[in-house]
Amino acid sequence: MEKTFPSPGKLWLVGAGPGAPDLLTLRAARLLTSADLVVHDGLVGDGVLALIPPHVERISVAKQRSRHTMKQEMINELIVRETRAGRQVVRLKGGDPFIFGRGGEELDAAREAGIACEVVPGITAAAGCAAQAGLPLTHREDASAVSFVAGQCKDLTDQDWSGLAGHGRTLVIYMGLATATAIADKLIADGVSPALPVAVVERGTTAEARVLRTLLTDLGDLVAREQVQSPALIIVGKVAARADALDCLGAPGVTASLKDVACEF
Ligand code: SAH
Repeated sequence: MEKTFPSPGKLWLVGAGPGAPDLLTLRAARLLTSADLVVHDGLVGDGVLALIPPHVERISVAKQRSRHTMKQEMINELIVRETRAGRQVVRLKGGDPFIFGRGGEELDAAREAGIACEVVPGITAAAGCAAQAGLPLTHREDASAVSFVAGQCKDLTDQDWSGLAGHGRTLVIYMGLATATAIADKLIADGVSPALPVAVVERGTTAEARVLRTLLTDLGDLVAREQVQSPALIIVGKVAARADALDCLGAPGVTASLKDVACEF
């Protein structure tokens, strides 16, 4: 009699996009229905999770009030173990797996374990939020370079911010709410104009999205004043003046209109 072997497992590192379920790629949507197990983050939108059929097992590694986020090593162990057991495992991550998503570490773990792994890109928050705000990240007149930077790094002061913002450049800051004031101060200390336009996009691409606009000098105050909630993205540069947004110039001493200052760059 012919011997049957279990089908080999495979791991898929899949980008869930910035929130709206119809911003998922077709490949990601197909994998959600063919997987045996989906291991997902807290950033993955409810509309995307609703696409996972009931017969597919689902494990959340999101931060919950009662317990801390599952440690990265434990997530790596989980996905490697389940894939080795012969299952089709989808590791579903907000945005794109390779943009501040620790997808690189999970791919390393898969390579080390010798399991098959494929990466499915997703629309990163920068692209989703820029579209939401009608704000082009590059523009022939305003910016020919764009940088994605994490606002939370081991030591903020170690980050070399010089050259990331200013003339002809767009700076996109992920995870920057808690450090918004420190980042603005650092940029200004490094010579960036305090009057550079800034847009803040909260929960981009979802029904609760908010787009706010101010000047660099007012960034920290804006975040506090408007009680901006995570997830939110900060976009610094002349292109921010093009956003379809609520203008929020409220800091004492900041009186110029956004349109006027934007013309100075
Ligand atoms: N891999 C993700 C980023 C993970 S880091 C991606 O490619 O988008 C998490 C940060 O992403 C958040 O703190 C926030 O700065 C940003 N972010 C993710 N989704 C967002 C959204 N819908 N609106 C605004 N910012 C978002």
